[in-house]
Amino acid sequence: MARPEEMWQCQTVNCGYIYNPDKGDRKGKIPKDTRFEALPDDWKCPICGATKKMFKPLAGPGAVREATA
Ligand SMILES: [Zn+2]
Repeated sequence: MARPEEMWQCQTVNCGYIYNPDKGDRKGKIPKDTRFEALPDDWKCPICGATKKMFKPLAGPGAVREATA
């Protein structure tokens, strides 16, 4: 099971896709057990096409949840 720090959520409006390293990204040909940090720089959100810079971790430094605290 991936920890929240290892799950990254797309911050684009109306998207909310969460990258789960347990699953990888079949559409983007990313095998499971690939950490978000290890994704290629040209990887894009399979839902909306946003770049990696649009993603934030669910927990840890710079997390999504910290923004609401
Ligand atoms: Zn997205």
